Amino acid sequence: MRVIVIGAGVAGLALARGLIGGGHEVEVYEEAPEPRTAGGSVSLWPGSTAILRGLGVDLSGAGRRLETLESWSTRGRVLSAADLTDAERAYGHPTVHVARGELVGLLAEGVPVTYGAAAEGVDPGRALARLAGGRTVRGDVLVGADGRRSAVRHAMLGGDPARLSGWATWQGFATEPTALTGAGRAVMIPGRHGMCGLIPAGGGRLLWWFDVRTGPGRPLWGDDPDPVGRLRRLFGGFPDPVPRILATMTEPEFFPHHTWRIPDVWGHGPTTLAGDSAHTMPPAMAQGANQALEDAWLLAGSITGDLRAYERARARLVRRSAVLAGTEFTNRHEILARLIPRRLATSVYTRWLRWASGYLLTAS
Ligand SMILES: Cc1cc2nc3c(=O)[nH]c(=O)nc-3n(C[C@H](O)[C@H](O)[C@H](O)COP(=O)(O)OP(=O)(O)OC[C@H]3O[C@@H](n4cnc5c(N)ncnc54)[C@H](O)[C@@H]3O)c2cc1C
Repeated sequence: MRVIVIGAGVAGLALARGLIGGGHEVEVYEEAPEPRTAGGSVSLWPGSTAILRGLGVDLSGAGRRLETLESWSTRGRVLSAADLTDAERAYGHPTVHVARGELVGLLAEGVPVTYGAAAEGVDPGRALARLAGGRTVRGDVLVGADGRRSAVRHAMLGGDPARLSGWATWQGFATEPTALTGAGRAVMIPGRHGMCGLIPAGGGRLLWWFDVRTGPGRPLWGDDPDPVGRLRRLFGGFPDPVPRILATMTEPEFFPHHTWRIPDVWGHGPTTLAGDSAHTMPPAMAQGANQALEDAWLLAGSITGDLRAYERARARLVRRSAVLAGTEFTNRHEILARLIPRRLATSVYTRWLRWASGYLLTAS
């Protein structure tokens, strides 16, 4: 079968690898002139590291394996800690935190991508895309893996269903060593003005991010002339290493959060979607890249079958993560720690990871 994939992000590249492994003919078209390696880093839960292993992606030298997921008070007291090695033992695969760019680089190895090729028009009924410059490509199946502003989705469903959630992230990597840089600990510190997160991404990098309430025209929106000064004022009293990170921070990256109601089906005829094009969600549950990999895994195995059945199966499961992420509850003051008592944190998290993953639900 000949499959045209629009977009060389996590979803498009993972899908292409799965299809090539299944003996299909694949062409990937990406609008950027080269691999898009920007962005922060992503946590890959056991279902995703299993999928990546199946796709021949070797994560052994990439990112950092995570052992605990901790919630701290603003005084630095550990309020709750989920032991992620419990899920690793239960499902046979680790949790790894990796820079988005590193993951995209690994996924792209061996995949035929045409860069600088934006899809400008799509005929979903004929699995046909018109690329910038006028070239037309056609497959037996066309997959829009072209992210939140998907041109393929627009051709089928119209409009932009994404809505701002009212929260946004300011993020970056700290390369000055801290006590957390080499450790396998992911830390979240919710406070009155939002949340600070700290996760090691390997290679001497610590991802830091600040989730804050904001919106167009308000402070800490993307056009704020002094985001660093504001973040310093709001989060300067947080425990070490937050003040040190704030002191050396220069140009944080801005990432607004979007939600949308995921439809039961998101395709038409031989055309379908995968990843953010089908289901953007805020990063609150750290599931965006994971759900993109889950789409790729299921779609690669069912590309010759009923595409609407793929969409229904994925919509049902993705909603679990998207609805929770849409509440942004992890950013609210200590609510996470209060909701999940310390002694239950590990078992709740281990079970949640399986519940959110079609791969793990099928495999175990
Ligand atoms: C540069 C970048 C930075 C990001 N940073 C973060 C982050 O810090 N935190 C976070 O939680 N999530 C981030 N994301 C989103 C995150 O990568 C996704 O939620 C997740 O990985 C799902 O991936 P995806 O492949 O569905 O979408 P994406 O990763 O958005 O990939 C879509 C790809 O399609 C390409 N594309 C778009 N339109 C067209 C078109 N018309 N024709 C051809 N190609 C097209 C894009 O250039 C992109 O490479 C980022 C995405 C990008 C592209």
